[in-house]
Amino acid sequence: MPLHVSQHPLVAHKLAILRDRTTEPKKFRELVRELTWLLGYEAMADLATRPYQIDTPLEPMTAARMEPRVGLIPILRAGLGMVDAMLELLPTSEVWHIGLYRDERTLKPVEYYNKLPDAASVQVCLVLDPMLATGGSASATIDILKAWGAARVKQVSLIAAPEGVATLLGAHPDVDVHVAALDSHLNERGYIVPGLGDAGDRQFGTFAGPASEPGGDHDEAAAVVRRLQRNLER
Ligand code: URA
Repeated sequence: MPLHVSQHPLVAHKLAILRDRTTEPKKFRELVRELTWLLGYEAMADLATRPYQIDTPLEPMTAARMEPRVGLIPILRAGLGMVDAMLELLPTSEVWHIGLYRDERTLKPVEYYNKLPDAASVQVCLVLDPMLATGGSASATIDILKAWGAARVKQVSLIAAPEGVATLLGAHPDVDVHVAALDSHLNERGYIVPGLGDAGDRQFGTFAGPASEPGGDHDEAAAVVRRLQRNLER
């Protein structure tokens, strides 16, 4: 089963504080970093290692080094808060940014930023997004990474909605999805419930007030949810 929901008590403990509406952006960013370490550690548990010889102060021995080159692909903007933690775990990984927006007319994701080199320079790609909501951006990003030649892709998110997991695994059943929690559902505005609110706003302190409409990534999510609901009502 490619969906991995962490069972670690530390993950559950930190996620509870992250979700709490009174958690300030500074603490929120720290928790995103700490949870990313823990999920990153779990997500990389099956990566291949290659044996090599080293000398300890006592004697020579065969040790292990991580074999695949790893690329980190944060989904803008909330995924940016997960990059530093992953770089601390894997300092030699490459960070590639892919920018997507949703075309209002065709409702298809459109690429506005992509500086990937012609040939894949990494074997494993970790797509980073704290919230796997509709799964639309994640699926479109993974389409691009596979076309680029990435041999293996994993999605690392803090919280997922069942709708997002279904969309992502429907399009990419070979992708491992690592999350701290699988929540109940997406609401009509595209928020994960119970969730934690807007992961970008909570990290970057950009709250527009309780009555504000979700912006950017949420507009896309809300449109998808409205469309799903209209289809169900037909
Ligand atoms: N993005 C967020 O930041 N929060 C959600 O609940 C859904 C998408």
